[in-house]
Amino acid sequence: MSLFDVPIEKLKGIGSKKGELFRKLKINSVGELLYFFPRDYSFRGEEVEISRAWGLEKSLIKASVCSPVVTTRIGGGRTISKVNVFDSTGTVKLVFFNNKYISSMLNYGEEYYFSGKVEKVSGFLQMTSPMFFKTQDTREFHPVYHLTAGLSNLTVEKAVMQALEMLPEKIRDPLPLEIRGKYDLVDLGFAIRNIHFPENQEFLTKARDRISFEELLVLMLGLSVIRFQKQKETAIVTEKSYFEDFEKLLPFSMTEDQKKACNDCISDMLKNTKPMNRLVQGDVGSGKTAVAAAVAHTAVNNGMQVAFMAPTEILARQHFNTLKKIFENTDVSVELLTGTMTQKQKSSVRDKIASGEIDIAVGTHALLTDKTVFNNLGLAVTDEQHRFGVSQRAALNSKGLDPHVLVMSATPIPRTLSLIIYGDLDISEIHSMPPGRQKVETLVIDSGKRKRAYGFLKKQIAQGRQCYIVCPFVEDSETENVASVETFAQNLMLEEFSDISVGVLHGKMKSQDKERVMGEFSEGKISVLVSTTVIEVGVDVPNANVIMIENGERFGLSQLHQLRGRVGRGSEKSYCIIVCDSSSENAERRMETMKNMHDGFGIAEEDLKLRGPGDFFGRRQHGLPEITIAGLKNMDILRKAQECLDFVQNNNLMSESEYKGLKKQVELFLKKAENIDFN
Ligand code: ADP
Ligand code: MG
Repeated sequence: MSLFDVPIEKLKGIGSKKGELFRKLKINSVGELLYFFPRDYSFRGEEVEISRAWGLEKSLIKASVCSPVVTTRIGGGRTISKVNVFDSTGTVKLVFFNNKYISSMLNYGEEYYFSGKVEKVSGFLQMTSPMFFKTQDTREFHPVYHLTAGLSNLTVEKAVMQALEMLPEKIRDPLPLEIRGKYDLVDLGFAIRNIHFPENQEFLTKARDRISFEELLVLMLGLSVIRFQKQKETAIVTEKSYFEDFEKLLPFSMTEDQKKACNDCISDMLKNTKPMNRLVQGDVGSGKTAVAAAVAHTAVNNGMQVAFMAPTEILARQHFNTLKKIFENTDVSVELLTGTMTQKQKSSVRDKIASGEIDIAVGTHALLTDKTVFNNLGLAVTDEQHRFGVSQRAALNSKGLDPHVLVMSATPIPRTLSLIIYGDLDISEIHSMPPGRQKVETLVIDSGKRKRAYGFLKKQIAQGRQCYIVCPFVEDSETENVASVETFAQNLMLEEFSDISVGVLHGKMKSQDKERVMGEFSEGKISVLVSTTVIEVGVDVPNANVIMIENGERFGLSQLHQLRGRVGRGSEKSYCIIVCDSSSENAERRMETMKNMHDGFGIAEEDLKLRGPGDFFGRRQHGLPEITIAGLKNMDILRKAQECLDFVQNNNLMSESEYKGLKKQVELFLKKAENIDFN
């Protein structure tokens, strides 16, 4: 019997109540528990006596419990538990928050190891939320698991230990011996044992590499299946390209890269074998909208309806205006459908979409919800952020639709990562900018020069320009973030910009309010727009020529570049002022990059080198375990997995019997993928 069929409650000490908590973590079976990898490891620290522990970053003390555990409520449903422990050299007070099991886990008079930082609080030594272990436990590393209220790390550890005992000595390994040998990978049993309880650093690395390798390989194999899957033919045939006609509608001529991207898309459609599934990547301002319009134009002329989607209403409206203008003197009809319209307006537009009277419907992703019925949907275009996921495609399929899909993204992904991040899409890249686009001059200042920078902004405003200020951000708490934007803006209004109109924009505002503020900014009624990174996505106000970004060190390069792209859209010289107080080597190198580099693809590569791949993954959900993403800092594994993908595909190995296990993993991935929103 497979351990995946053994319910978690079969483990000693896990009854229905604890079982429920495990299930909350999506662990239903013993097998799933074994695949519940630690999110991190804690090194238990150097063992020291209590008298010498204070001042160390981390220490391990061996001490006995010498007081009862006292738990009190501290409001907000939270609790604090305190208990004293001692060794022959001193006493430490331990403090735990929201852990009602502490009293049952630490026995009076018994000795344990405690690992953590010893601090002095009002004269007494104290450890806050230390890890603790039985004295027989001498392991160097301890796994740290994701937890849920009521479930302690120790409980998970104990359960995993039992589960490991149930693991047979020899287990079937999805990676064939051939592959393990070729890429120097440990077997699955070794990997699973050491990913939970590594004997030493080396074994941990080997275990992690092996697990990451398999995850990546399965992911890439799975994505390539999705990409090459023989989908059913599109219902609506594309007979010919109307690209030449389209070009005449534009007030400018397209760049070579734009033409190439259009050609890629239209060729996909003309094949008429399966729906297009293509990503067009290009920097902010590289002219992706025109590409999408060209593709939509050919689609419409071949009798299709187009859903043109943006992540926000502001952007949807902008696209609507752009498209409306392009198609002004043609019989292509464009209409907007957004949540802020009245019910009456909405249902009137929906009727026209249903009857086929509207060719291009522009809106947010709500366009694809059940209420909107298309007469003849043939192409779904989606801009930026909200990518069109496998699950969205499945939703459309279930309505009997299988449209061409065109995704546009302004965050270039390094080539080395595109196979795992976009392996299911064909990719076109736009590298060149439309002619005449000037570089945004980028300055990096410390906060001491902020006043001077404000002076510069005021001068620009006096000359009729507008500015963005991207607010310092507060981590973790969204409500706090709102408060901080508002207070920040208020202070600016009262002080620096008391005689200038200042507007505020943040993600928590009602969409009507956002629309209003953006509208006022576009019309020039607002001179300074203070905002969170909500402006990151595609707002276009050519008269704005300065963007000032607070806390520059907190952002990834790609994101800074994205923000910088808000300016430099008009004819005036534009500036990006980054306020950065960090002088770490990494921060300095990143700021240098921002000053000197203006190409998004180059910046993405640099970002990858300096910050690792985490930021890029954040943009798309995979179901990849954190451990794999963390392990990707080691790009070697990724390279090896990519090499292996080629090896497997070029030699057609998946059909061989030794690859059955791997094939099964890919099938499992594909099944899961239906529920993954590749956003
Ligand atoms: P993106 O969506 O890639 O950020 P947009 O499509 O919004 O960029 O284009 C930015 C601006 O450049 C728009 O005002 C657009 O009209 C203009 N533009 C696009 N392509 C060209 C071109 N080939 N020549 C001149 N201007 C262009
Ligand atoms: Mg755009």
